[in-house]
Amino acid sequence: MTARVLNGKELAEQVRATVRAGVADFVKAHGRAPGLDVIIVGEDAASVVYTRNKEKAALEVGMRGNLHRLPAQTGEAELLAIILRLNDDPSVDGILVQLPLPKHIDSDKVILAIDPSKDVDGFHPVNAGQLAIGRADRALVPCTPRGCMKLLALAGTPLAGARAVVIGRSNIVGKPVAQLLLAEHATVTIAHSRTRDLPAVCREADVLIAAVGKPEMVRGDWVKAGAVVIDVGINRVSDSANPGKTRLVGDVAYDEAAERAGAITPVPGGVGPLTIACLLENTLLSAKRRAG
Ligand code: NDP
Repeated sequence: MTARVLNGKELAEQVRATVRAGVADFVKAHGRAPGLDVIIVGEDAASVVYTRNKEKAALEVGMRGNLHRLPAQTGEAELLAIILRLNDDPSVDGILVQLPLPKHIDSDKVILAIDPSKDVDGFHPVNAGQLAIGRADRALVPCTPRGCMKLLALAGTPLAGARAVVIGRSNIVGKPVAQLLLAEHATVTIAHSRTRDLPAVCREADVLIAAVGKPEMVRGDWVKAGAVVIDVGINRVSDSANPGKTRLVGDVAYDEAAERAGAITPVPGGVGPLTIACLLENTLLSAKRRAG
């Protein structure tokens, strides 16, 4: 079997087009554009690119986007003061603080300071709690897990009763995507670094989601024939075909897995593009809810 490739780039474009139309309607109704404020502390090269892309994406769909670039030595109190100011600013619908933060700042404290109704990353315990009690409709749900669910919808996989295995239990990806699968009535297993015989656990999966951060860890013979494989991993490795160069790979050995899977996401071009598209959706949703 050769798997159907789930094109995240194309799907993300569709999501962005829908958001763009929603933003235009919002502006007509409320006389202002939804606003997304992104904060970065320090100069981590990858984070700088991610945050610039988020601001740019907001502007492209007609939102007000604002990137706050703070120096690495910014104190926790100063960062918290900026967040409180944005919480109180009615033109701000989404606040996103790029993680990881420098070590001298307590990221839990920072996440807690964000008004949950503006927490477009969905990391605040109020939003995580709403998702955990089955009230995603009241929450802002983390973007990458929502992207995974959109890709599963694209695959057309029936989720009710399906066996789903999520590898990874982070608060950002593993746990929330498991909650979303559970809400769709899948039978969900969350695997992690202590899981015994991970290949055997994975072979049970009709839906396999890898969010580990280990290049090509999931091998082809871990995949059940016909399963849908969603690869969240983004890993930079040296490119043996181009000495001195690097390339991106996922957590799944793509070529091997594609031989057995029914559908699979590529890296890059799978989950990645949907993360920013879902951030825009969350910002529009927040703006609409806050405007009543
Ligand atoms: P974390 O490092 O927070 O979590 C990794 C998880 O993988 C942990 O739960 C860990 O288990 C588990 N794990 C580690 N090693 C193994 C192993 N050998 N066997 C089984 N489980 C293992 O990562 P994130 O969740 O933040 O990210 C995961 C990947 O997704 C990364 O590659 C990241 O770059 C990517 N990512 C991609 C995004 C996108 O937009 N496409 C967005 C966010 C992340 P334990 O808890 O026991 O330590």
